[in-house]
Amino acid sequence: MDSYTSKEFEKSVYVKDSQIHGKGIYTSRFIKTDEKIMIISGEVISGDECERRENEENNVYIFWNGETYIDTNKTDKIKYINHDCNYNCEVQDRDESSLWLVAARNINIDEELTIDYGYDEIYETCCCNNCENKES
Ligand SMILES: [Zn+2]
Repeated sequence: MDSYTSKEFEKSVYVKDSQIHGKGIYTSRFIKTDEKIMIISGEVISGDECERRENEENNVYIFWNGETYIDTNKTDKIKYINHDCNYNCEVQDRDESSLWLVAARNINIDEELTIDYGYDEIYETCCCNNCENKES
């Protein structure tokens, strides 16, 4: 598995305008539950630097693997992944400087890939069926 390059993994992932928000990433092939879809990598930064980039540069493309912060701002695909409470992908540990994007369920051709961003603010602006119908 590790002999696969990041490019080979993500070649079926493409970017398109999204119904959810701005641009999104989609799959051009059927993906089975638990299948690895792509490698999430970028610039490894410290927690302080993460906070600075979020506050000063409005950078919303930073992933956290429990230890390291990975800034995907300069990537051409993974930075566009959108939040959906009914997500179809999950993020799993890979190594110190990267993560795996893994299918949380079967994903159909041309379906948008989504994850649960997992922070409270997102639920206030989320327009998935769950959040739209929630009494607040
Ligand atoms: Zn939602």
